[in-house]
Amino acid sequence: MINIVLFGKPGAGKGTQADFLKGKYNLTHISTGDVFRYNIKNETELGKQAKAFMDAGDLVPDSLTIKMLQDEVEKHTGTAGFLFDGFPRTVHQAEALDAFLISKGWEVTATIALEADDEVLVQRLLERGKTSGRPDDQDEALIRNRYQEYNHKTAPLADFYKNQKKFYEVDGIGSIQEVTERLSLVIDSLN
Ligand code: AMP
Repeated sequence: MINIVLFGKPGAGKGTQADFLKGKYNLTHISTGDVFRYNIKNETELGKQAKAFMDAGDLVPDSLTIKMLQDEVEKHTGTAGFLFDGFPRTVHQAEALDAFLISKGWEVTATIALEADDEVLVQRLLERGKTSGRPDDQDEALIRNRYQEYNHKTAPLADFYKNQKKFYEVDGIGSIQEVTERLSLVIDSLN
């Protein structure tokens, strides 16, 4: 069992890289943003509760997010491992993830951060917004609010995982393939 947390600011390339890594390492990819968007599209109760937060570029409350993540994990208990993309995003979520994985006899193997400069990422997101159809990618004020949320609530997680000696950093700027290779070097070194 290998459980990887892909860490990084919005637009750093977590989703793009997860698409390559899940096949290469036979991992189950869980993107909390994708699960929320699916629920909003299908007008589920969870979607209705999450929508206003997402539209504002705010984090969805921990209680909703943690429950949703646990439900997703439960759907794939036979997997060789998970690739968590966009979760955890708060220290409380990280503690809940640790406790939940431990209850199953598992653990987070490593957290890998994709590093990139804010201004590069804002431009990347605005570009993505032209085709992604995501309202939170189309408005610079919303994008900046997502960075504020990241800086206040998510950035402290780096220390959380550094204390556990599970934190790795990779340069997120380069071609998709170059970044995949950098991530693979870290993952290959874990075994
Ligand atoms: P993403 O697709 O990862 O950029 O997430 C899009 C939006 O979904 C975020 O701006 C949050 O509103 C919400 N979201 C996704 N993952 C989480 C999480 N782990 N905790 C709270 N909110 C989340």
